[in-house]
Amino acid sequence: MSAPSSGDQVRATQNDRSHGLLMDGEWREAQGGARAEIRSPFDGRAVGEVAVATAADVDAALGGAERGAAVWRRTPAHERFAILNRAAELADARAEHLAETISLENGKPLAEALGEARRSGALIRLAAHEGTQLYGDSLPLDANPGTGQDKVGFTLRQPVGVVVAITPFNYPALLVLHKVGPALAAGNAVVLKPASATPLTALALASVFVEAGVPAGAITVLTGPGGTLGDALVADHRVRKVSFTGSTSVGRRIASLAGVKKLSLELGASSPTLVLPGADIERAAAAIAAGGYVNAGQVCISVQRVIAHRDVEADLLDALRPKVEAIRMGDPFADGTTLGPLIAVREAERVVGSIARAVDDGATLVTGGARDGAFVSPAIVTGVDTRQPFAQEELFGPAIAVTTVDSFDAAIEAANGTPYGLAAGVFGGSLSEGVRAMREIDAGSVHLGWTPLWRADLMPYGGFKASGYGKEGVRSTVEEMTEIKTVIMHG
Ligand code: NAP
Repeated sequence: MSAPSSGDQVRATQNDRSHGLLMDGEWREAQGGARAEIRSPFDGRAVGEVAVATAADVDAALGGAERGAAVWRRTPAHERFAILNRAAELADARAEHLAETISLENGKPLAEALGEARRSGALIRLAAHEGTQLYGDSLPLDANPGTGQDKVGFTLRQPVGVVVAITPFNYPALLVLHKVGPALAAGNAVVLKPASATPLTALALASVFVEAGVPAGAITVLTGPGGTLGDALVADHRVRKVSFTGSTSVGRRIASLAGVKKLSLELGASSPTLVLPGADIERAAAAIAAGGYVNAGQVCISVQRVIAHRDVEADLLDALRPKVEAIRMGDPFADGTTLGPLIAVREAERVVGSIARAVDDGATLVTGGARDGAFVSPAIVTGVDTRQPFAQEELFGPAIAVTTVDSFDAAIEAANGTPYGLAAGVFGGSLSEGVRAMREIDAGSVHLGWTPLWRADLMPYGGFKASGYGKEGVRSTVEEMTEIKTVIMHG
């Protein structure tokens, strides 16, 4: 497969994909001066360069963030709103460049990256609006026995102060903005630690906020390995809130270190889609063929498991297989590519290893599952028992596991039969089964008539069980990044 652009174009784009750390409103080299190349998962070439922060940079960054928080919390909400709207305009204007950056460092097809980049401005605007909605309550204190009308009580919603945001590689723009946008809108300073594989998108977005007028220290970006920087960021007493999206194993470590501060964890998943008698099979197959393979299956709400009722399973597979086989692997920048590489060769090796183990455990590989470098061809694996690791563990790759069930109750039991609970989808079934599914599936979102792979940026979003706790979605995030103070005036 050939490189997406000529050497000259790559050199040209590289100039604006080379960054220091953003601290105290300035771009600085890391202490010690280390830098790391960012490489394309498609062909391994260098597509940018970032500074590699150290623990000493963390300390300095948090000092700067405290100063930034003091300024930003005193900035009136209408000014924050105006600045964030300027940032949204800049993000809109730069959407194509952002999309190229996403594809270069993440490997997803350019069309998918454009979809992500073009949501950026709208997401910032939604967050900006929520920052103007920090309402409180007036308290009817005299309804409390023994309290007269000499007192007035109300609540104030205030920013928490310094927020640490740690983000994964799979949606390098959206998952950054779901934290940075609401944090800033609510008047907090935010310290962002993006994934080491995809820092360039985060840094491009940070520039947008700086150019829009976010003051020094209110936004900080530290690039470097989470394993080195994470503990210092998470455990520091100056940090009042940690917002983490990533794997369950890192989430567990963060929860054990954070101490007394607010914490949101958006973690892993093994999301089910139920296909029941009465389902529109064509619609279900089309949605699964998209939802299992978008971003090479590296989506927390990817369709990992299809729980098919025996009466519809054969029809579903007949409709699904040609759609999956029509997915086109290739150069993320080439027209018509619908499946790019995984983020790294070792991830592709892990995914084909999981498929091979599922087959050893008795499942059948119907199509796909071949590796070429960081690519894995889109796979369907049938006959998967929910208890097998292929269903139990998050796959994060372009394959779905089909489990056969004989009743609605068995479908619900299978859906709930993993440690995770992020999102689920249901096709078919009766109205009463739909109502039971929405009540009985243990997941943070349940989609009737679609797969779990759907998100509106304003809806509450977040998992149950090992998928984490806390909710994102601009309104929820603003709530979680603010604190309620109760004020009583004693007359
Ligand atoms: P990851 O390995 O957990 O990394 C996520 C972030 O944590 C990265 O910035 C990483 O930095 C950092 N990190 C690593 N070790 C750390 C430590 N000890 N302390 C603090 N931070 C640390 O996850 P990933 O591979 O990037 O992303 C895939 C995972 O994210 C999947 O499990 C997926 O389900 C989950 N995810 C969940 C949601 C959701 O909404 N629930 C959304 C998207 C993704 P480095 O990159 O430098 O290691």
